[in-house]
Amino acid sequence: MTKKKIETALIAAGRAKKFTQGSVNSVIQRASSLVFDTVADKKRATAGRASGELFYGRRGTLTHFSLQEAMTELEGGAGCALYPCGAAAVANAILAFVAAGDNVLMSGSVYEPTQDFCTKILSKMNVTTTWFDHSIGTEIAELVQPNTKVVFLESPGSITMEVQDVPAIVAAVRSKAPEAIIMLDNTWAAGILFRALDFGVDISIQAGTKYLIGHSDAMIGTAVANERCWAQLRENSYLMGQMVDADTAYMASRGLRTLAVRLRQHEESSIRIANWLAERPEVAVVNHPALPQCKGHLFWKRDFTGSSGLFSFVLKQKLSPQQLADYLDPFEHFSMAYSWGGYESLILANQPEELAEIRPVAGVDFSGTLVRLHIGLENVDDLLDDLAAGFKRIS
Ligand SMILES: *Cc1c(COP(=O)(O)O)cnc(C)c1O
Repeated sequence: MTKKKIETALIAAGRAKKFTQGSVNSVIQRASSLVFDTVADKKRATAGRASGELFYGRRGTLTHFSLQEAMTELEGGAGCALYPCGAAAVANAILAFVAAGDNVLMSGSVYEPTQDFCTKILSKMNVTTTWFDHSIGTEIAELVQPNTKVVFLESPGSITMEVQDVPAIVAAVRSKAPEAIIMLDNTWAAGILFRALDFGVDISIQAGTKYLIGHSDAMIGTAVANERCWAQLRENSYLMGQMVDADTAYMASRGLRTLAVRLRQHEESSIRIANWLAERPEVAVVNHPALPQCKGHLFWKRDFTGSSGLFSFVLKQKLSPQQLADYLDPFEHFSMAYSWGGYESLILANQPEELAEIRPVAGVDFSGTLVRLHIGLENVDDLLDDLAAGFKRIS
């Protein structure tokens, strides 16, 4: 059988008859208790509880198994753990592999709550964090200590969008510490535009809240692990009580069916807007992985098969608090909100000193206000009109 193309794989994944039972989509099986008819059935369920036998709600139902099978296939892993949100996926993936006295190597441009998890939770467990510059390559080998258990990447980085040289990092870590577990927050690429496990990453983590759900109406986290990590990730997450309800798991599966077409539109529209911004006199730099001026653009070009709808740009000027309100408040199509990945466009601004606080190694190399956009599925011309009107308000 030839390998299915991604659009086809997204339609077919997780839709085996045992999950759909004659309908198109997987059934929604809501359950805490799963009932055994005989002693023999109970014994079989217990023996197979980690491999798709219906056992107890916390281990999942057919709805969860369908999504897990789909994610495992799509990201090319050995299994997929589900979590109530992306932050839980990040925290529990790390927790599954560290013990007191261990060290974690963490990219300096990861999502802020991931940083806070290190400084506020891991530190209490006597697990140390060493931060490294997002632009690191083979030099990461120098940071690997005998007690380094986890290396954590996020590419592109949060807000500032630096793409990392994952193959170089993986090769260097492997040669120095073959046992270290390499994890990557793969939310921006929705797990499919960057095939992290194919690049030697052990665990690909997603805030499925973003593109898998795709409609800003539910939260879920996923972590797809390779063969060597799957059992430990699965059992640790189980003991930490990590599960999501069947309805939300169903919504993530439903999101998969349209993921490729949504991403294609997010990509097309975001690149058009990024190129338009790059020509604007108000703009110092556009941090869109598909544009040459984005840090790590060549790694994106080499390793990714596309881009999604989230990027940022830096204004030449630093807006005053009043200018910031004048700029942001009147947008018609861009709402201000945390999160992203839904069908709607979003805008947020960060001042350079705010970003410097969450850039423990690199600091920031710009002095203007940074604006982060999520480009939704609206008509691009309407979005461009809205952005042009925004520039008028601060000129
Ligand atoms: C949103 C986000 C998370 C956290 O996901 P939640 O579902 O909000 O907990 C983690 N990593 C990245 C890169 C994110 O954008």
